[in-house]
Amino acid sequence: MKIYGHEPIVETITYADVVARYGDRCWHCGTGTFDALDHWPEPVRDGGPHLLENTKPCCAKCSQIGNTLAGRMRKARTAD
Ligand SMILES: [Zn+2]
Repeated sequence: MKIYGHEPIVETITYADVVARYGDRCWHCGTGTFDALDHWPEPVRDGGPHLLENTKPCCAKCSQIGNTLAGRMRKARTAD
């Protein structure tokens, strides 16, 4: 199936795949547990692909407060 002339980039990613690649700790704070899947370095809303390379484990706390690398960069950009 093609969307806008391109094959959609969608990879089936399981919890085990992410743990095997990145471990089961939060990618952002390093101490939280793997509660959520975060798309980094390219957020999906910015057109980032749903690929294992663009997926990192994220804890619920970081997910809630936006303590992700993308969130911090957004805050840094809008701070001044
Ligand atoms: Zn965290």
